Amino acid sequence: MKTGDQNLVKKINKSIVLDTIQTKGPISRAQISKTTGLNKATVSSLVTELINEHYVFEIGTGQSNGGRKPVMLYFNKNAGYSIGIDLGVNYILGVLTDLKGIIIEKAFVTLNKQEYPHVIKEVLKIIKELICKSPESPYGIIGIGIGVPGIVNSEGNILFAPNLNWREVNIKERIYKEFNIPVIIENEANAGAHGERLYGAGQNISNLVYVSVGIGIGTGIIIDNKLFKGATGISGEMGHQTIEINGKKCRCGNRGCWELYASESALLELAKTLPVYKDAKNIRLEDLIEAANQGNSDVINLFDRIGEHLGIGLINIINTFNPQQVIIGNRFSLLKDWIINSINRVLEQRLLSFHRDACTITFSNLGIYSCALGSSAFAISNFFASEKVVVE
Ligand SMILES: [Zn+2]
Repeated sequence: MKTGDQNLVKKINKSIVLDTIQTKGPISRAQISKTTGLNKATVSSLVTELINEHYVFEIGTGQSNGGRKPVMLYFNKNAGYSIGIDLGVNYILGVLTDLKGIIIEKAFVTLNKQEYPHVIKEVLKIIKELICKSPESPYGIIGIGIGVPGIVNSEGNILFAPNLNWREVNIKERIYKEFNIPVIIENEANAGAHGERLYGAGQNISNLVYVSVGIGIGTGIIIDNKLFKGATGISGEMGHQTIEINGKKCRCGNRGCWELYASESALLELAKTLPVYKDAKNIRLEDLIEAANQGNSDVINLFDRIGEHLGIGLINIINTFNPQQVIIGNRFSLLKDWIINSINRVLEQRLLSFHRDACTITFSNLGIYSCALGSSAFAISNFFASEKVVVE
């Protein structure tokens, strides 16, 4: 065997041991050997390396059938910390997480202006705030993941963000220059799908579509456990599927796009036509929910109508992907109780029963944190990518 091959084999084995400790820990060296099929001497030397590198620590508290208690190995989730940013159209939400995706700190700011210089200043401010709050650790901040509401190419450049009115923006380089920490940029719906799949409603689901409904609509598609990115990384723009041939003009160039009829901005626009909001300047989603809770039938009917519009687009998605689960997330996760019935009614009326029976409609488990947590998770896997070798 050539030296290069031996190094690769060692790296693969080390990845397997670290993965086993991450997913099955606390676990003893003997159990790792049994689970992975690697011999005890190999496991032992790799574990020593992982302990020296602070990825793993040991505590002698395991169960044993008589005799000496085995030493148990734990993944050191505090070896470093990751930052996840959800860059919305009208807000920025940031989280600091440990290496298992547990939130340690949060930061939030409302955005009133969408111009790039203003937004980037706010993003840098939030990142700085989270870095300052991060506890001491061997690796410090291991990465920054950012979910953005737009089309992101494989290099992490934002090609087009219609609702921010941005074109060709290299936010990745700007942030890297400021902090000298690896930066990952992803579409916000892809990040949300990843977050829900890892930590939320989509755990153990191999085929799912995450539908992020905020000011716009984006989708993150997971097929056979993998995020489907398309030829150039820009798949999932289902918010721009046409649901009205001669409908309203969209910023994407098309007409009658789904997000013009079923998003938060569509809802707020329709709300303005209600007598009760005739003179209102700024209506927020939270105000509408409050009104519905108080029994305002106009608002309740409006939610019902938006749910129907949402259902129409979901039919196209379900017909295309045959997902086991559709997760509705982002801002509309707040509307669950108000729109689930009309969504189901539309699916009942219009969707083939084979599809209906195979698919469950759910709402995000992580609430508004799906995208921020998914973004943080991308940064974590990027960090481990140098340590780990993925064996297909
Ligand atoms: Zn469009």
